[in-house]
Formats: sequence, structure tokens, C-alpha cells
Amino acid sequence: MDGTRVTVRCRDCSFAATYESLRDARAAVDDHESTTDHGVGWTIESLAAGVSQAGADAGVCGRPECANEDSPLVDPAPPETER
Ligand SMILES: [Zn+2]
Repeated sequence: MDGTRVTVRCRDCSFAATYESLRDARAAVDDHESTTDHGVGWTIESLAAGVSQAGADAGVCGRPECANEDSPLVDPAPPETER
């Protein structure tokens, strides 16, 4: 997982941290959300763009608002004007 970095940032307080693995980041997010009831967002950064894209497509955070709109795999509302 060389070059992968996950930035975690809380929307309700100043909590922020950077982790080098998704597992550590997820644990930190779960811990902070469960202990404070805050909403924590995270950003996956990677030197390898393909890895970052794959993570976004997988919907790692599990929230619809985090869906990657640039991804062909995510198409919640196709424009009706096309047909
Ligand atoms: Zn917080």
C-alpha cells in the first residue's frame, strides 16, 4: 500500500488525523463517531490514481453523499434527455 494516505477530518470538532492505511483510518473514524456522536469524513489520497479511484468506486464510507460522481459505476440519475 505504498503511497496511500487517508485523511480523517471531523465535521463537528477540530479532530483531524492522517493514516497510512484504510484500516487504521476506519478504526479511528469508528472510535471517534462512537465516543462523540460526531460525523467524521475521510479522504483517500494515493500516489497511484488508480487505487484512489477504486476506493471511491467501492464506496468505502458507505454513505450515498460520498459517492464518486466522476465514476462510471455510479449513475444515480441518468439524464432523461438522452433518450
Ligand atoms: Zn469530532
